Amino acid sequence: MKILSVNAGSSSLKFQMYEMPEEKVLISGVFERIGINDSLYTIKINGEKITKKAELPNHKEAVRILVEELLDNNVIKSLDEIKGIGHRVVQGADKFDKSVLIDDEVVEIISELSSLAPLHNPAAVTGIKAFKEIIPTAQAVAVFDTSFHQTMDKETYLYALPYNWYTDYQVRKYGAHGTSHNYVANRLSEILNKKDCRVIVCHLGNGGSITAVKDGKCVDTSMGFTPNAGVIMGTRCGDIDASIIPYMMKKTNMTYQDIDNAINKQSGFLGISGVSSDSRDIEDGIKQGNERCLLAQHMFIRRVVDYIAKYYVLLNGVDAIAFTAGIGENSIDIRKGIIEKLAVLGIKIDEEKNNVRGKEQLITTSDSSVPVYIIPTDEEVMIARDTYNLIG
Ligand code: ADP
Repeated sequence: MKILSVNAGSSSLKFQMYEMPEEKVLISGVFERIGINDSLYTIKINGEKITKKAELPNHKEAVRILVEELLDNNVIKSLDEIKGIGHRVVQGADKFDKSVLIDDEVVEIISELSSLAPLHNPAAVTGIKAFKEIIPTAQAVAVFDTSFHQTMDKETYLYALPYNWYTDYQVRKYGAHGTSHNYVANRLSEILNKKDCRVIVCHLGNGGSITAVKDGKCVDTSMGFTPNAGVIMGTRCGDIDASIIPYMMKKTNMTYQDIDNAINKQSGFLGISGVSSDSRDIEDGIKQGNERCLLAQHMFIRRVVDYIAKYYVLLNGVDAIAFTAGIGENSIDIRKGIIEKLAVLGIKIDEEKNNVRGKEQLITTSDSSVPVYIIPTDEEVMIARDTYNLIG
């Protein structure tokens, strides 16, 4: 059965087509600069990568071209071979604790939740509608980044703010990257050959979040009401003292948009280093003796270690820890820095094994109290699995 896994952004559309249940990737790609000039798309098929220019005034046109490519490349012979389309949706809030078949009511709720994810949910709705128009025979499924975190209990997800902020304005912790955390926690459970286990998943990319998982369920996660909570990120500050915001607004006459921009786009690695939001540039800066780059990396490592320590206690010890996403999968130095700070727990890095990028691997010694793994994430396959399971 052919299933498409789709991730629609405001000006982009990523896709991956699977033969299910084998989970074989048939074709994948991305449409970029939709609705902007110089639009283009890239497809990967049979180990080959092709980039083409195209007029992409909207997402519907991107989907139309995608269908043309699927037919031209003989991935499908007719449209009705595509049985399901799984759409990534960033914010499902407390309305969705699992993936669902999409109907008009689901689209309406996703749309209503846009105030909690103004950049992402409207894009998902645009993607859902575009696919519905061009491939009406396929059943659509929504897979939410937040649903994995819906198992957190109330004392975990509530903030100590006036209670009506929660009841009237839905202010609470929702978390993010749930599909990735779910995938990695599942994979750890397979590797450990243990269904009931306590694991900590460190998804460290441009955005970063850390999740404590017990018996396959999220117990706590570092992101909050928005993805700007928890660890330091590329351009986001992560956890700060909330009162800094009114203080700076009063001192500098910044508007709430200015503040929003500062804490989301000018902070994190970029804010501290003054050089870049990209951890590779930070590592280059360190090699050149840039002290603020070194400071940024040290601060990042400390915050990650803080969360691991916190979740280690919360879970009453852990069976495994995993690193995933851009930094987690690729940064040898950052993984080393984090694991070395966990020595008090008896966790010991194997430097030779850690000397890899983007590969599933155990990176601790055989006498380490807890095994630590690199697990490359795969959100697309999770979307395809949920879609396949829901459409039966
Ligand atoms: P997102 O999906 O949140 O945009 P990614 O998971 O792609 O982010 O991660 C991006 C981060 O991963 C960047 O900070 C980048 O520097 C880092 N990264 C990617 N490749 C490497 C590498 N080879 N070495 C170190 N860091 C890397």
